[in-house]
Amino acid sequence: MKVPFVDLSIQYNSIKNEIETVLEQVFTSCTFIRGKQTQVFEKHFAKLHGVKHAIAVGNGTDALFLSLKSIGLEKGDEVITTASSWISSSETISHAGGIPVFVDVNEHNLIDVEKIEDAITENTKAILPVHLYGRSCNLSAIKKICETYHLFLIEDCAQAVLAEHNGRKVGTYGNYGAFSFYPSKNLGAYGDAGCIITNNDEYAESVRRLANHGAISKHDHLIEGFNSRIDELQAGILTVKLKHLVHWTEKRINLAKQYTLSLKNIPQINIPHEPLEHMGHVYHLYVIETEKRDDLKQYLEEKGISTSIHYPSALPFLDAYSVHKYKSSCFPLAWKKQKKVLSLPLFPELKEEQVNYVCAQIKEFFK
Ligand SMILES: *Cc1c(COP(=O)(O)O)cnc(C)c1O
Repeated sequence: MKVPFVDLSIQYNSIKNEIETVLEQVFTSCTFIRGKQTQVFEKHFAKLHGVKHAIAVGNGTDALFLSLKSIGLEKGDEVITTASSWISSSETISHAGGIPVFVDVNEHNLIDVEKIEDAITENTKAILPVHLYGRSCNLSAIKKICETYHLFLIEDCAQAVLAEHNGRKVGTYGNYGAFSFYPSKNLGAYGDAGCIITNNDEYAESVRRLANHGAISKHDHLIEGFNSRIDELQAGILTVKLKHLVHWTEKRINLAKQYTLSLKNIPQINIPHEPLEHMGHVYHLYVIETEKRDDLKQYLEEKGISTSIHYPSALPFLDAYSVHKYKSSCFPLAWKKQKKVLSLPLFPELKEEQVNYVCAQIKEFFK
């Protein structure tokens, strides 16, 4: 049996007609940027989150960058983020003029809330937590810290659309929630796209302006900006896919439950803890941990099962940050986890038989 890590073609085939209809509409309209499809998508995405504003942008990295840019970082300003993420979470802090300050992770590979206060200095301006793998961070605790120290909260929701903390969606706790619609994300475009959500009129206007050369309406360039807009094709595609997102997310959660049930008694591996609430984890990735990670990965590959690693190096230990000479002892959990994490195949259309096969092969490996 072959089990791909992710297969986007099955989903495409299931919505082919809807996609073709919307593409046809865009081509007929011949409006490719800043048109009706974008407006409709933004309206739906804002409504889904119960927020006033959604601003669709070029990609998830830009959603973070423009949010950070809009808080007006000055030289020496620091932004606290997690040691374990995709580099977008920290590179955007630097590009916006700030200094990324890394905090070690907890058992879930999410920013360790207990360690945030130690990282706060008089230069700290914001906290940027990442809902890694689709699991919500402890947002109520993080928000409380932000309120106590008067810090901005910018949530990296790239992997966690629809995830909830205390019954409230991620992205709605922060001053800004940043989303990615990279094709393999839970809500994936057929190209690059991203979105920022906010309840604040001023922040919304600011990021909208920055994303469009400093202008809201034509030629109204109050400031210099950037070019980061969703295109009409992606906006149309995302509106189609948004209708199916809850259903696809339920499927991810059910497949994750199946993995958990089958793998929980293998002493050599750690599996993700069940979240406290149903939508506490939307399983963008199902990540196990084992000391035998590399051998297991290769064994599964030989059995036709593709896996992946998120991520082989925690952020402080990337070459990009080597000038800081971060010590492993400063981020002990992130250091340990980078050698143990393994992401198993997971996408809504994955079949139960395939999950059973993957689990059987993992059991066989450890026998
Ligand atoms: C995918 C991702 C991003 C960046 O999104 P792009 O759309 O690829 O720019 C940012 N943060 C995290 C955690 C991601 O997984």
